Parts: sequence; C-alpha cells; structure tokens
Amino acid sequence: MPALSLDSRIADAVAKVSADRLRAIDTRLVAFGTRNGYSETSNNPKRGVYAARAWLAAQFREIGKSSGGRLTVDYDTYVQPKNDRIVRDVEISSVIATLKGDDPQRGLVIVSSHFDDCNSKCTDPTLDAPGADDNGSAVSAVLEVARVLAPLHFPATIVFICFDGEDLGLLGSANYAKSLKDRGAKVEADVNNDIVGASTGRDGRQWPNDVRLFSEALPKDAALRRVNQIGSENDSPSRELARAFKEIGTAYVPAMNVNLIWRTDRFLRGGDQQSFTDQGFPGTRYVEQSENYEHQHQTLRVENGIEYGDLIKFIDFDYLARVTQLNVADVATLAVAPPAPDASLLTRALGYDTTLEWKPAPGAASYEIVWRATFEPLWTHARNVGNVTTFTFKNVSKDDSIFGVRAVDAAGHKGPAAYPQPVR
Ligand SMILES: [Zn+2]
Repeated sequence: MPALSLDSRIADAVAKVSADRLRAIDTRLVAFGTRNGYSETSNNPKRGVYAARAWLAAQFREIGKSSGGRLTVDYDTYVQPKNDRIVRDVEISSVIATLKGDDPQRGLVIVSSHFDDCNSKCTDPTLDAPGADDNGSAVSAVLEVARVLAPLHFPATIVFICFDGEDLGLLGSANYAKSLKDRGAKVEADVNNDIVGASTGRDGRQWPNDVRLFSEALPKDAALRRVNQIGSENDSPSRELARAFKEIGTAYVPAMNVNLIWRTDRFLRGGDQQSFTDQGFPGTRYVEQSENYEHQHQTLRVENGIEYGDLIKFIDFDYLARVTQLNVADVATLAVAPPAPDASLLTRALGYDTTLEWKPAPGAASYEIVWRATFEPLWTHARNVGNVTTFTFKNVSKDDSIFGVRAVDAAGHKGPAAYPQPVR
C-alpha cells in the first residue's frame, strides 16, 4: 500500500498534544477520591462521580470557547433500576460534548472513554478508587483530543464522550448508543479508549511504543452461512476501521506500533465500544500493550511487598500523549475524509472479471479500490479509479481476492474501506 500523505492541519493538531496537560487532567480526576458509580448521591462537590462529572462538563465548556459556539455539552442521564448485578437503583450520567460538523449529510465520529471507576469492590462508594489508568488515562486523552480539534472545522460531527457506569456493566454507553439508534443517527465510528496510560507490564517489560487496537470479527446481525460463502469473516465495518487506524497511525505517529488484535475486546472481557457494535455501529478499542492487574480495580494496600492500586505514579504521560496523538489523527482523518461508501460486488454472471458498484459518498472526489489475497491480513494493493461509481477489473477474479472501496476527497483524504456486499 502507498503511504498516506499527511495533512498539515491534522499533523499540527497531533503535535499540539501535551503530556503535561494530560498529567494535570488525570491528577485532577484522581483527586475526586472515588468515581465509583454509586457515589452519585454524594453531595460533596469535591468527592465522587458527580463531582467529577461537573468538572468534566466545565472543562468541555472551557474548551468549547475556541469553537465559535459549535461545541455543546450535555449530560446523558437515566436511572438504572436494581437488578441481579446492580445493588440499588443508580443514576447514570455521561458527559457528552458535540462539535457540530459543517456537512449535514455526514454522521457522527465518536471518541469515547469512561470516567467512572472501581476499587476491589465495584459496589463500594466509600473507600478511595483513584482510577488513574482505568480510566482517568482515556478521559484525559478525550479532553485533550477535544482541546486540539475544537478550533478546527470538519464535515462530520465529532462527539467527545466520558461515559458513566462502564464498570457497572457498560451502562452509560449502552443507554447512549441505544438512544442514537432510536433517533436514527448515523454513527460512522466509535473510537473507544480504556486503560491507555501505562507502558510497563506486570513483568517489568516496557512497551512505550506499542498499543493494542481491538476490533470485532462480525457485525451482530451477520448471516454466518453467507459469511462462509463469501469469506467476509475478516471484513466487518469495525475491522475496516481498525485497518484504517493502523494506516493513519503509521503515517501520523510513526513512533507507535498499532497492534491489531482481531477480537472484540480482551478475551471474554468488554468495553464501551461493544455498546456501539451491539447497535450495529462500527467501533474499536485502544488498550495499552501490557496491563498490570495489580493496578486495576484494586483497593489501595500493600500485600507481600506489592503495592496495589490504580495510581498516578504508574502512568507514563509521554506514552499517554502518543496514544492521544493516535486518537487525534484517527478522529480528524475520519471527520474530514468521506465516509465508507455503500458498495456492492456484482454477481450477475460467472466470469473472469470483477465489477464493483457503489453509491456516491458525501465529499468524495474520487474512489480507490483496495484489494488483497484472501489470506492476507491487510490491503496489499490500491488503485484510484477516478470519480465514477462502478469499475470492472479485467481478468481479476472475485474468487481469489478480497476487495474494498473507499472514497477520497479532493485533498486526498481517504475514508475507511467498505466491503462490497454481493448483489445479483
Ligand atoms: Zn475501564
């Protein structure tokens, strides 16, 4: 694949990310003592999840001053009733900042985190739960992405989110993603971040230049028999996003290795991106390369000489800055490039050629067809076919390759590829 050409406006935004600012934000979040979901009833303005919520909203409002009135800040609030897992009715309230895009045809590009946290007991709102890495790290990243992008104009609307209730079971994100689905919103991507601040693993190995990017194999309504027939098991919209993010990350933050993990989340575990994929929206998750479980969901203590707890001192803010830079590049590129087109592969007759068709994508000036052998993980070939909505490859068989179509704007920004669905 040819390397992406850099957009100087995006590269400038990437360069503005500040490790010092990330440290200041995360330190402030930890100072709320706990952000446990059940601390919402505390009226203490200095402690608890709602004190943190008010502070986050104020930060977004401050950031919004650079947007010329285009950034708005809301809470997404509901009461989660008691159930097998939830010990009492609990109010869940996420902080949502929306930077209105310039093109009403475009959908939403979401960058998300969660600001609630836990110590060893997720039902305990009394003891401290610093949550510096899980997930103060990602909340800091999302605020910093908002700060560097808020002054800029994009065709798509960008939504910066700090979810509540993740540790109680993805509650805030589930409520918000469902509301997007119910109102017919077009979600182009959820770029989720959860545990992205530490570069040293439990075994002491350092991973300052590596981050994992998780993406699901199949959309939830995939027809498995059809997937087997056409070999589309590795080309869900979420996975095409992950491929795009690897390409974008390599171009804009070459110091980082974006390690694609082809799994919805860590083994049998979860994150807020799944609330989006559950609604049929594409989503991915960044996670640091090597987690240290002694620093996650732990009540502060020392046992057998081991210090347990999710503390600021275990965060590598230069590393967090690089992960934040990846987010800036991903989100800005998605928001400026045209979205994935609605593409089809024609199967009307047997033949030795391959014909693709697609609907025009908003903002597209031309289209690029990408392809690879069926056993290859990443696109190996690309060809710009101009401003057309159909193209026939002579003597290239659909039996032997996987194709994708992506839209390119006049300045050369490339959106994520769309897997062409077979039509007669
Ligand atoms: Zn988390």
